[in-house]
Amino acid sequence: MIKAIRQLPDGHPMPYLGQEYTLKTTTSMKKPQVKIDTGCLTINFYQSHPQIPVQIPLIKWYRVQAKKYITCRIAFWAEKMQLKYNKIFIKDQESRWGSCSTLNNLNFNWRIVMAPPPVIDYLLIHELAHLKEMNHSARFWSLVSTYDPNYTEHQKWLNDKGKDLFVILPKIPVALLNSVHFYMD
Ligand SMILES: [Zn+2]
Repeated sequence: MIKAIRQLPDGHPMPYLGQEYTLKTTTSMKKPQVKIDTGCLTINFYQSHPQIPVQIPLIKWYRVQAKKYITCRIAFWAEKMQLKYNKIFIKDQESRWGSCSTLNNLNFNWRIVMAPPPVIDYLLIHELAHLKEMNHSARFWSLVSTYDPNYTEHQKWLNDKGKDLFVILPKIPVALLNSVHFYMD
């Protein structure tokens, strides 16, 4: 099963918050770790680790960053928009970016942290607006535009470039993700 996962080569561009980082892998006696420094997204594999696909630490790292970033920005926008949400879930949906449940839970695809911050904000504002308007009516879009006047531009970014973000790191089984521990920044 592990072998079926495509490997990403060193030097592959990895988007994060709209910036491109170069993928770099190292193998050493130091702890297995994923970190960002000087334009690189570096993954250190512990020397005695068997062949682990690079996708595992990468997805784990993006998920941790997504949780941190989205939790912080949602708190900011919810206060500004004077809306109350229940819980935030970071998901690995295969095509959607976010959703809002009838229990007022907000779900976000972790891949959104690859996008530029204004695009991420648009998605957060969009899902928060659904707490008030559970539809895509004129009232809904008017609410979105109050907090993101350039929302059509951000929508366009997601429509044009969003698909690429699904191609870089496709979904992998959760059991595989949990099979190995990596330290995160
Ligand atoms: Zn919507």
